[in-house]
Amino acid sequence: MQLFSSEHQSMLKSFRPSDYPEHMEVLSSLGSFMESELLPRSSRFDSGQESIAPYRRRLMEHGICAIPFPREHGGLGLPFLIYASAIELLGAADASTALSVEIHNAVAEGIMRFGSDEQRSGLLPLLLSGKKLASFALTEPASGSDARTVRTLAERSGKGFTLNGSKTFITNAGEADLYMVFARTGRGPSCFIVEASSPGVSVGTPMLKLGMRGSRTAEVSFRDCEVPMENLVGAEGEGIDYATAILHGARIVVAALNVGIARLAYDGVMRYSKTRTAFEKPISEFQLVREKIADMKTGINAGRLLYYYASCLKENGQDYSSEAAQAKVFATEMSLRVCDSAIQLYGGYGYTTEDLHRPWRDARLLTIGEGTSEILRLLIASRELARAS
Ligand SMILES: Cc1cc2nc3c(=O)[nH]c(=O)nc-3n(C[C@H](O)[C@H](O)[C@H](O)COP(=O)(O)OP(=O)(O)OC[C@H]3O[C@@H](n4cnc5c(N)ncnc54)[C@H](O)[C@@H]3O)c2cc1C
Repeated sequence: MQLFSSEHQSMLKSFRPSDYPEHMEVLSSLGSFMESELLPRSSRFDSGQESIAPYRRRLMEHGICAIPFPREHGGLGLPFLIYASAIELLGAADASTALSVEIHNAVAEGIMRFGSDEQRSGLLPLLLSGKKLASFALTEPASGSDARTVRTLAERSGKGFTLNGSKTFITNAGEADLYMVFARTGRGPSCFIVEASSPGVSVGTPMLKLGMRGSRTAEVSFRDCEVPMENLVGAEGEGIDYATAILHGARIVVAALNVGIARLAYDGVMRYSKTRTAFEKPISEFQLVREKIADMKTGINAGRLLYYYASCLKENGQDYSSEAAQAKVFATEMSLRVCDSAIQLYGGYGYTTEDLHRPWRDARLLTIGEGTSEILRLLIASRELARAS
């Protein structure tokens, strides 16, 4: 499978013709690395025979995380669209690695936008080069979509805050060097950087999951965990606004990730449907099969255009909250349909072969994580009604 397909290249060129060659070079180089190092190992990551950690690290050293950040912070200073496109390639190569990288970079974006100069200069070069891994800890056992109700407490103590509470479903838990933690102070939910090595931080056993099995998910608890004042991100009480802003950007990336998963399933079907025969014909000759192929392809291109558009709005400094949510809702639901059609077209092999149902299992997470489809539909409608008034 050619991860950075000629079609993807030509769509990108039509969106950003002026600086096309430089972008192509970055994406081609990342695509080649993913094709040789990740794609052939994705079933081993899924079955737990191999860890994604060393490959994720090398991918970060190759610059995937640095793409959309300014050069003064160790970034490559390239458009967000190029970063999202790189995550599309990664979604096709290995969705678990894509999820892990995407969450890590969402934390980096939060530090860049809301952190202090010291936090930016101290942490961004380490995060963007892969020397440190980050994790985003918002969800709690009793608070997911309704993040304003977080119960983890951050009480003022001698030189900073003392954290007590638990976070659940945390990606990169146990592997991360630092957690971006949302905890309640007297002024409301606030955002902190907590070093994983701090006394009082503990991580539960990795959760068994339907998909995204190569990425680590676990509970993270804080017991009398001392966090110095300089690790408060931005202003006290503003944590939910920061989390919301971080998640708007992350949703564009999740949309791209899902386009990548759908492409993996689609490419498999394109090969299989030409070689599998029934009634003395390749199954690709049947009109009902062709209908599925047409719908798969249309969905993939529509999903790609939605995340391209949201990326461009973000780069231009325009409000992109509704468009990011639209891209995520559409692309996550589209990729589930595409992966489901792929299983159908593989017949019995689709249901019984880990590698063939893995894309569906991976895609299944993303109508839930980083804003459920239900919550995002509410967000889209409320933004659009406000824009129309
Ligand atoms: C594998 C995995 C990785 C994750 N990684 C992270 C991570 O790294 N960091 C992190 O902080 N979190 C993470 N999460 C948590 C994820 O973001 C939450 O699961 C998600 O936000 C939904 O929250 P919840 O599970 O508490 O569901 P709930 O909020 O309890 O929702 C349950 C159901 O009710 C619906 N619902 C809720 N409110 C409304 C409403 N007003 N109107 C209509 N329907 C509604 C929801 O759409 C959903 O269908 C992860 C989850 C998983 C499974």
